[in-house]
Amino acid sequence: MAGIDIEGLATVYPNGVRAVDGLDLTVADGEFFALLGPSGCGKTTLLRTIAGLESATEGSVRIDSTDVTRLEPGKRGVAMVFQDYALFPHMNVSENITYPLKVRRVAAATRASVAEKTGDELSLQGLLERRPGQLSGGQQQRVALARAIASEGKVLLLDEPLSNLDARLRLEARTFLKKLQKDLGITTVFVTHDQAEALALADRIAVMQSGKLRQLGSPREVFARPANTFVANFIGSTPMNLLPGTVASDGVSIAGGSLPAATGSVPSGAEVTVGVRPEYLTLSTGDVSGPAVRGSVVVAENLGTQSLVTVDCDGTLIGVTVPEEDEPSPGTPVVLTASEQRVLLYDKESGELLARQPAVV
Ligand code: ADP
Ligand code: MG
Repeated sequence: MAGIDIEGLATVYPNGVRAVDGLDLTVADGEFFALLGPSGCGKTTLLRTIAGLESATEGSVRIDSTDVTRLEPGKRGVAMVFQDYALFPHMNVSENITYPLKVRRVAAATRASVAEKTGDELSLQGLLERRPGQLSGGQQQRVALARAIASEGKVLLLDEPLSNLDARLRLEARTFLKKLQKDLGITTVFVTHDQAEALALADRIAVMQSGKLRQLGSPREVFARPANTFVANFIGSTPMNLLPGTVASDGVSIAGGSLPAATGSVPSGAEVTVGVRPEYLTLSTGDVSGPAVRGSVVVAENLGTQSLVTVDCDGTLIGVTVPEEDEPSPGTPVVLTASEQRVLLYDKESGELLARQPAVV
């Protein structure tokens, strides 16, 4: 088992694209770590640079305290699962799983027992003689994982391993993967563009944009306290409300009303972007004392047990989630409130979270 230390890492392609652009991060021993970001932000390149399939232009990668920056992939102790699984079509499942061992000249009898054991762990019993073409997508995905695990790397690198599965299977595979990772305790870096997947699986998440790190934190931190409006927009199934506001003495004025906010050193009268998640707003139909925003319901969307209600507040549209049974009809006058710790203030120009706000508990 091993941690990963990345320092000042940049990977520049021959065409001049800086796909990874000066990254520092540490993945702890045994951690399930997600690299999250939109398509093209450099996730695959970062993973391939850790694996040694791309060479670092600047900076260093250490695995288990050993500098591997200039080591060839086979000597780094990493196992990678590619997005398209990269199974060998002409080999059966057993041969696919144990291919890395064959390369290392491990005896056939040992390979057979490893295939058996890993096949059991990955629920591939009875499929060891089949070829990849005779398997479902979910089974192929587990074969790719089995091959990575059987190679006994210190670090498991997974590039969007669930993205080729349909929605239902993806949820099952996600649960399976989380349990497997905890059982094995292997340090895992998981790449995904799906924020829900990262929130569900990871111990910590690094959110990337254009080759750079925009936030590193626990799922709870990146959800409840995005460090900037990029992360605020990217994380969450219902988008965070990001609204123009003006700092007042006891909070912030928005959409013809006001909300409480820890304004810290931000002066009264300053124009800011106010961030508040639909899940953290409370909708009432009666009278409310204290700071609030008033408006009328435009539309409500059913999300299952919750409804996402869009409220027109003085011309500004604000989203709020309510229990499905409390869904108000369009045209209903409503009042929105929030607690101070849920209302975040961002710099209007840079989009960075303004300092001195209470920490997430
Ligand atoms: P992600 O996995 O987050 O979608 P990638 O790491 O694949 O992102 O790509 C990051 C950037 O590097 C993109 O702009 C992409 O076009 C570019 N890129 C990826 N692979 C290559 C390559 N082999 N040569 C040149 N540019 C590349
Ligand atoms: Mg990719």
